[in-house]
Amino acid sequence: MGISSTQKSFNLAIIGGGISGLTCAIALHKRNIPVTVYESAASFGEIGAGLGFQPNFVHTMELIAPGIKEGFLRCANNEETDPPKWFDVRIGDTRKADREGFVRKKDGRKIKLGERIFMIPARPGPRGGVHRAHFLDELIKLLPGGIAQFKKRLLDVTKADNGDAVLHFADGTTAQHSAVIGCDGIKSRTREIVLGKEEARPLFSGKYAYRAILPMQKALEFLDDKQATIPQMYCGYKRHVLTFPIANGTIFNVVAFSSRDEWTNPEWVVKTSREDMLADYAHWDEKVKTIIANVKNPDIWALYNHAPARTFYQSHPRICLLGDAAHASTPHQGSGAGMCVEDSYVLAELLAEISGADELETAFRAYDAVRRPRALKLVETSRQAGMLWELEGPEGDDLDAFEKNANTRMSWIWDHKIEQDLERARELLRV
Ligand SMILES: Cc1cc2nc3c(=O)[nH]c(=O)nc-3n(C[C@H](O)[C@H](O)[C@H](O)COP(=O)(O)OP(=O)(O)OC[C@H]3O[C@@H](n4cnc5c(N)ncnc54)[C@H](O)[C@@H]3O)c2cc1C
Repeated sequence: MGISSTQKSFNLAIIGGGISGLTCAIALHKRNIPVTVYESAASFGEIGAGLGFQPNFVHTMELIAPGIKEGFLRCANNEETDPPKWFDVRIGDTRKADREGFVRKKDGRKIKLGERIFMIPARPGPRGGVHRAHFLDELIKLLPGGIAQFKKRLLDVTKADNGDAVLHFADGTTAQHSAVIGCDGIKSRTREIVLGKEEARPLFSGKYAYRAILPMQKALEFLDDKQATIPQMYCGYKRHVLTFPIANGTIFNVVAFSSRDEWTNPEWVVKTSREDMLADYAHWDEKVKTIIANVKNPDIWALYNHAPARTFYQSHPRICLLGDAAHASTPHQGSGAGMCVEDSYVLAELLAEISGADELETAFRAYDAVRRPRALKLVETSRQAGMLWELEGPEGDDLDAFEKNANTRMSWIWDHKIEQDLERARELLRV
């Protein structure tokens, strides 16, 4: 960790206290960089459900601060299978089955609807699923009291005479900092300031997701042990369903995706009923319908993402975008929050290397140069993954082509060496 020994002559504001804002605040605090977090809500968020992190992202947590990895492991489901698995893949849509109920022939064997058609291997190492609220609780423990201010909705940022950023909040107050790190999520105000309203606007991806959790004990009443405790992906036409354990295996997390052309509700997270959810999966296998029949109080999440940003920062006043504010992605490769963690690590290490406010722009430029290509690639390939899982990509419902794609498409995300990114960014800082 690049702990900076010199006293900084700059101080930073982070807007937003989600995974980005908190991991970034921990990273800066551990590197002795003065920082304040401004969050619009009355407390750190309780919304959200299950999130998965793969070994490369858990490794980056440790690089930021070992306490993040320890906190993650306390609330993750980190039971390992041998070999490590990302998902068992099954077909859940009856329309893909032939008259006898078979969906695929592989190695001379016919595979039935609902049976495993193959598994997508994961990388070895600590990984797993957490409840977002539990993980946020662990992150909060790593920050000193008083570092965060609540009910502070950022409206605007203007420039002070000395080049500082002046933050204007909805409660009429202002605050002055050398720079702002925008961690305010997909509907980011800081993104609008940097890119303009039109370019910043999130775009509906054509997909939405039902999210629900139920006690693992309950899931074990209607699923066998392996199907309940090992991550499962049930694929079908324009729909797919993921299940995986979170919270040390005590909670069974369900995310059921579906498609529609547009989203007109101004709210992006809305309550729905089990009955509506069942109707959406009318063509599906009994096992998937049983899972749905057992969920309580599902929410629907409209899935938006961002068009590629031409930059992640601006100079007058200084604002740098991080996490979903910079590159909100659909969740089809399960890596959006992982990218937030990577952003935080690289940015904090760069900021640890500089001492004056006049160097902030150089650090932001180096961060932008290494982080933007990788984060934007995630947005684009996640959109494609959503099509693949729902049998509407170039592979269609050819399951041989599907398996080939599924088994290779995650390598660039999981085998990435974040230390090499940082090295490149450090070189840019020096030129
Ligand atoms: C269905 C679904 C499943 C997912 N699964 C995974 C997964 O398995 N693995 C994974 O890595 N990622 C996953 N993701 C993505 C992941 O949830 C996000 O990438 C991540 O949570 C984004 O964190 P963030 O801190 O950038 O933004 P947010 O969590 O949106 O936090 C933004 C914060 O900023 C605050 N804020 C907003 N505006 C203002 C303002 N003007 N002033 C002050 N504060 C403000 C908000 O209140 C909020 O606290 C999933 C996403 C979805 C929707």
